Amino acid sequence: MEKHIDVAIIGGGPGGLNAALVLGRARKSVVVIDERRPRNQVTRQSHGFLSRDGISPSELRRIAMEQMKSYPAVQFVEDTAVTITGTDGDFQITTAQARTFWSKKLLFAVGMKDIPLDIDGLTDVYGISAFICPYCDGWELRDQSLVLIVHGEKAFHLAKSLAGWTNQYTICTNGPDEWTNEQREEIKQHNILTFESVIQRIESNEGVAHSVLLEDGTVIPCTGIFFAPKLATGSDLPQALGCQTTDAGIVIVDEFGKTNVPGIYSAGDVASELHLVVIAASLGAVAGVSINGELLSEVWNSKI
Ligand SMILES: Cc1cc2nc3c(=O)[nH]c(=O)nc-3n(C[C@H](O)[C@H](O)[C@H](O)COP(=O)(O)OP(=O)(O)OC[C@H]3O[C@@H](n4cnc5c(N)ncnc54)[C@H](O)[C@@H]3O)c2cc1C
Repeated sequence: MEKHIDVAIIGGGPGGLNAALVLGRARKSVVVIDERRPRNQVTRQSHGFLSRDGISPSELRRIAMEQMKSYPAVQFVEDTAVTITGTDGDFQITTAQARTFWSKKLLFAVGMKDIPLDIDGLTDVYGISAFICPYCDGWELRDQSLVLIVHGEKAFHLAKSLAGWTNQYTICTNGPDEWTNEQREEIKQHNILTFESVIQRIESNEGVAHSVLLEDGTVIPCTGIFFAPKLATGSDLPQALGCQTTDAGIVIVDEFGKTNVPGIYSAGDVASELHLVVIAASLGAVAGVSINGELLSEVWNSKI
């Protein structure tokens, strides 16, 4: 019996699962290794996915797993991939629970990790009234009084984006910012209040933020928060295998999800600057189609 599975997918969020669906339907053998720490695990509702607007991430996964039962060549393993060796056609994956899998192709759909900001009270509100992406949760906080916790260049990006959802927001930089005089002038022209004192804590009631307290004694009332988290690649494995990444830790892929390393693909948040479920899933589908095409070509060409 062939010991190699066609494709090992590391990560079973929307990116990995959509790739598994495409590959399972294409009659490829697949293992999805997923430690189940998806990026949106804190959130109750996921928005913006056609026909699934407002669904909880766990329900989205439940439906996906239910439908995947039609494709028996796709197996799911709840575990962490810890080491991967080998090259195109012969990868060996070892997991934290000492399982070993051999695969012909690899797909990294390991997502991105948010590095939590060290602010007292933020975890109480994160996913309930504090969010990171206006496209995901801006509608729910439209026309509300918001505090944006963000500094530097990112402050302009977030402030400009949120202007489409509300015009009542204040920027807290959580410590002195290094804006240039021109940048400060730009903020002034938009009548945005800014506070540069360190945040002491976020006050909330059952997850609903109602004020941000600063160390200088200022109290900023609010009904919601947007902040800019620091991001890191969901796993070190792509880099360990030689996959090129951007400075932000995004794995560089071509339009088919191919990395610079033969036989290795990447999809989902980790392969895109745009982080939405529908985009992660579609990139998973693209990678699934590309990997299947490569496998079919290899078989076809071997007979010539
Ligand atoms: C608070 C919040 C709210 C959001 N709300 C929305 C929303 O409303 N709408 C929307 O479209 N998007 C939303 N997003 C973005 C959305 O969560 C991501 O775009 C989406 O989860 C990306 O899917 P993914 O498959 O790339 O990664 P993930 O869903 O993060 O899945 C990656 C998986 O890989 C696993 N993994 C990583 N390394 C390994 C390893 N070595 N071995 C095994 N498994 C591994 C992880 O544990 C995880 O389960 C939100 C994000 C956050 C943080």
